[in-house]
Amino acid sequence: MMKYISTRGNAPELAFDDVLLTGLAADGGLYVPKEVPQFSLEEIESWRDLPYTELAHKVIYPFVEGCVESDALKGMLESVYNNEVFGHKAIAPVQQIDHNEYVLELFHGPTLAFKDFALQMLGQLLDYVLAKRDEKVVIMGATSGDTGSAAIEGTKTCKNVDIFILHPHGKVSEVQRRQMTTVVGDNIHNIAIEGNFDQAQDMVKASFGDQAFLRGERKLVAVNSINWARIMSQIVYYFYSALNLGGPVRPMAYSVPTGNFGDIFAGYMAKKMGLPIEQLIIATNENDVLHRLMSNNLYKVEPLKHTITPSMDIAVSSNFERLLFDLYDRDGAALAELMNKMADRSVEVELSEEKLGKARDLFDSYAVTEDVIVKTMQDVYGETGYLLDPHTAIGVKAARECRRNNRIPMITLGTAHPVKFEEAVQRAGFEMPKLPHHLTDLMERQERLEVLPADLKAVQAFIAKNTFKD
Ligand SMILES: *Cc1c(COP(=O)(O)O)cnc(C)c1O
Repeated sequence: MMKYISTRGNAPELAFDDVLLTGLAADGGLYVPKEVPQFSLEEIESWRDLPYTELAHKVIYPFVEGCVESDALKGMLESVYNNEVFGHKAIAPVQQIDHNEYVLELFHGPTLAFKDFALQMLGQLLDYVLAKRDEKVVIMGATSGDTGSAAIEGTKTCKNVDIFILHPHGKVSEVQRRQMTTVVGDNIHNIAIEGNFDQAQDMVKASFGDQAFLRGERKLVAVNSINWARIMSQIVYYFYSALNLGGPVRPMAYSVPTGNFGDIFAGYMAKKMGLPIEQLIIATNENDVLHRLMSNNLYKVEPLKHTITPSMDIAVSSNFERLLFDLYDRDGAALAELMNKMADRSVEVELSEEKLGKARDLFDSYAVTEDVIVKTMQDVYGETGYLLDPHTAIGVKAARECRRNNRIPMITLGTAHPVKFEEAVQRAGFEMPKLPHHLTDLMERQERLEVLPADLKAVQAFIAKNTFKD
């Protein structure tokens, strides 16, 4: 059975089901697999013809073994990665944009962004594990758009999960709001807070800190990007795209639009599992804390900037700790010390050149300004007639700047569909694209939401009332 350990070395080892329900480790660290499953080139080669669900079973099963039955996992994968849920039969198709240059389209899921890949699976896994344990939980989260809708879509059929997603009233785009509020399910609750995103976020944090309003009968579960089950599900499409482009015989390079470092960490895991990956590019917007660290060896947290790529607007990248853990030879005590230093936002932290050098062997980084995002959308459209979403445009620009070897296929992760990001599309001078075929009636669907004041007591009372209905 796979065991998980904390990056800070001072929390109990857990099995997969506990990691799924836990979030942060008790010592403040993040859970990682104690041993990484490894596959030979021959074995990976033998997967070449597998459809997405079968490949996903090969990649995911070792991480959940002992907690999830093999057949149950198969059932979950088939209920998620199919043509009813994803608007494309290949699930994760590859689009060519230049000689040896590709976009891996991860936006055919119900909410048109790659987060569906992980959150659809997370909903299935949660419901399975909770049924086995005879438990129920409450998911609570705040969203400025993307994660909330993907979490709602992922949990709408869960019997053991009630989900409450807070968003700032009137401050989310209509497409994004409708993607949350039109989902049908008795366990789904959208709360529009009369306030801003930070107020919503603060109420979620306060509720996790003191869960008395749930009367000890339920636990809150977070579905943010530090949840291991999300990363695990994202490893699959690195294998899938590589196999489709001639891997594992040929190595691949990936450029990943990066915020919290979850998606690119999944690529790093794929490499550790045996997939030949020559280069991983950390592509960021102007919230470039990781690019500054990689290029100057200086870690300094700067205030958050709001950009036309809101899904990558972060001040710190939580999952980077998982990479640091490996760079520090999995020494939890050393990492705890480093993370404590990094938590003090008034200081600049330097890594040892030796550790950073190890990271630079595989990773490059590049930060892209708004003007360049817009220019890249225009360039690629001019070259191919293909409209990139602004997040993906960051990846393509970074890929073109940082590429080490033109003979190795360069794959940019296409993290979202442009229809979600009207401001960027308009700035680039394009008409808004049509909604994809599986969402054409989104603007006519019935919405359900509760508008509440930015008041913790009112929000908690609403959650309690709707959690203990029967
Ligand atoms: C969440 C998100 C990202 C960033 O992914 P991380 O795993 O947080 O690095 C990039 N693009 C889009 C469209 C996203 O929704």
